[in-house]
Amino acid sequence: MDNPCIHIYSALSNSPLTLRDLDEIGLDRIHEAKEKKKAALENFGIQSVLDLLETYPRRYIDRTNMITIADLEPGVPALVIVTVESSKLFTTRNGKPMVKVVVTDGHRKLSITFFNQKWREKELQPGMEVAVFGKPDLYSGALQMTNPVVDRVGDQTGRILPIYPQSEKSRITTKELGKWIVDALKKCGPRGIADPVPQSVIDAHEFVSRQVAFHDIHLPESNDHHIAARRRLAFDEVLRVQLMLVGRKAQWERESAGFAHDTKGHLIDGFMKALPFPLTGAQKRTIKEIYKDLASPRPMHRLLQGDVGSGKTLVAVATMLAAVQGGHQAAIMAPTEVLADQHAIGIRGLLDSLQVSDDSQLFGARGLRIELLTNKVTGEQRKSILAGLADGSVDIAIGTHALIQDKVSFKSLGAVVVDEQHRFGVEQRSRLRDKAQESEHGLVPDVLVMTATPIPRTAAMTVYGDLDVSTLDELPPGRTPIVTTWVNSPVEIEAMWASVRARLDAGEQVYVVCPLIEESEKLEVASAQETYDQLTHADLAGYTVGLLHGRMASAEKEAVMTSFRKNQTQVLVATTVIEVGVDVPNSTSMVILDAGRFGIAQLHQLRGRVGRGALQSHCYLVTQTADASPRVEALVASTDGFVLAEEDLRLRGEGTIMSVNQKGESDLTLASLQRDFDLIQWAREDAVSIIAKDPMLETLPLLRDELDLLFSAEDEEFLFKS
Ligand code: ADP
Ligand code: MG
Repeated sequence: MDNPCIHIYSALSNSPLTLRDLDEIGLDRIHEAKEKKKAALENFGIQSVLDLLETYPRRYIDRTNMITIADLEPGVPALVIVTVESSKLFTTRNGKPMVKVVVTDGHRKLSITFFNQKWREKELQPGMEVAVFGKPDLYSGALQMTNPVVDRVGDQTGRILPIYPQSEKSRITTKELGKWIVDALKKCGPRGIADPVPQSVIDAHEFVSRQVAFHDIHLPESNDHHIAARRRLAFDEVLRVQLMLVGRKAQWERESAGFAHDTKGHLIDGFMKALPFPLTGAQKRTIKEIYKDLASPRPMHRLLQGDVGSGKTLVAVATMLAAVQGGHQAAIMAPTEVLADQHAIGIRGLLDSLQVSDDSQLFGARGLRIELLTNKVTGEQRKSILAGLADGSVDIAIGTHALIQDKVSFKSLGAVVVDEQHRFGVEQRSRLRDKAQESEHGLVPDVLVMTATPIPRTAAMTVYGDLDVSTLDELPPGRTPIVTTWVNSPVEIEAMWASVRARLDAGEQVYVVCPLIEESEKLEVASAQETYDQLTHADLAGYTVGLLHGRMASAEKEAVMTSFRKNQTQVLVATTVIEVGVDVPNSTSMVILDAGRFGIAQLHQLRGRVGRGALQSHCYLVTQTADASPRVEALVASTDGFVLAEEDLRLRGEGTIMSVNQKGESDLTLASLQRDFDLIQWAREDAVSIIAKDPMLETLPLLRDELDLLFSAEDEEFLFKS
């Protein structure tokens, strides 16, 4: 209700307003917002004064940057503030709506054309003042603009005009929003807005106060003002996320008891001595970081990031051996059967000659018992493995999600490795950890999560904020960098197949990746089949070609993979099922058809299937259109997964990582993973030092309250289970 007697400052307390106070103050205190508009605002997701204040301008118009129509130049983007003279709707020859608008700055006129924006006719009424930003061009001798950005500025004054997101549907204009926000700010004036962040932190980063920030983001006097305001408010957002992550991590560590593994001993020594190559510097550093965690009774919860081929398997094995050496068990979970099979081959190879001490044996030692558990393993064999897991006679279990099924129990699971974790749901990962706690002593195992999809450091700090991160940023020596070529004309495609045939004739092997059809697996399989038929009849006729796709039975897939591994098949035509972890060093070329459809991370993963041996490898990215895809260009320019991850983040723009990996869209409105690297870094460090001194935030009740207010229990569950 619109009741002028009620003012915000009539609330009981006189202390500065907290976010909770602001959240509890309804829109009825904003006089200007009448009933009908209030419903519209609620539609827009704005229900309280806090929501209103947190509706930030999407950009600003700086009047000092504007020019007159007379000064417009063809091809040079510019801003003019003008009055609408007329707007008319037409239909183009091919039936599309076209709106022609004439505007004036008092001296000259400019005509503007909008295609496919029928609503502009009604929106832009004669007499209305608008800011128009666009690139003018010459059209039959006169300057005009096509589809420019238009903001209604109305009678707003001031040098810098905030432009709010506006919604046609809920009929709220940027001008109305601006008015209510100004009203809300005014009403907050007497009590002021509380600042819950420790003064020392604010001073250290030279931030403005929260009160100033809320004012200046909406009513900036200059560009510097809104920039400083945004940084302060964005910092608050990331600080809250970090406090949450760091706080929960600290709590989890306090409350759970883990193993204090012995990381020095015969088994690990024997393993290191038997390695056919020296560890890379990054492997040494990473293993040291992991062993420090393993030796402490605090359960490890660590992410190992490493580009394809950086040697993560070895680090995983070193981790598992620490548990096995102490008489416990270890498990590694992979997302697919192909990958689990491959791990089994690789890990058995690495551990072949090792012996564990066993007093029940004549010589006091026995070989390691390593078992593979997938859904393919059935009958007596499965029974025996399950029994071995339960009685402790299986030392290392390798498997798929079959490892976390109800029937599986471990005697004493001391370390868990989860490979390629982005393939697993959050739930599945925590299930393996829970499983371990069900074992006899109830200790929490050490967990190492491995990913071959590097993510930028800032994103890692947020998305994996409750994990410690180790990074394998060095490839083993002796790799020949992959040569990546962009192929997009018939002549180039001809030349590519000729090079591929030359590699095949030299005894090497080749992958051909079929076009990605995200909409339908069925279509994708059909297109893979078509690619296979075409190649076997034309460009690769006479060579042995295999086909691998997601709709094949697992026995069939395995047969195809085995034949390729043994070099009985020369060419593997496949859908993206080969993306993860396949390791055949003799394959030296990869052709990716319709590469423009794939994302950077996916292309990088695919490409990582070649270049695994000493031979020179090639990757061909075939695209249909003549336009260079920036993603394809990125792949041609770099083979460094971390560089590509940064580029990916840049190309995809703001917030994508958050929305993919984390549901809390509301958590970061202003902060951007890409732009605010420094803020995220600071927030991380500040959160760590705040939590170290005061884990429950008892001395910072306002901050504590803000976290309670802004993060739902569900958010917390989500953030901390990853
Ligand atoms: P990732 O899983 O990180 O993609 P892998 O663990 O499969 O990588 O290792 C890729 C290849 O590199 C394997 O063939 C492995 O034997 C080899 N490798 C691992 N570490 C080293 C090293 N320090 N020196 C030489 N080769 C190594
Ligand atoms: Mg691997």
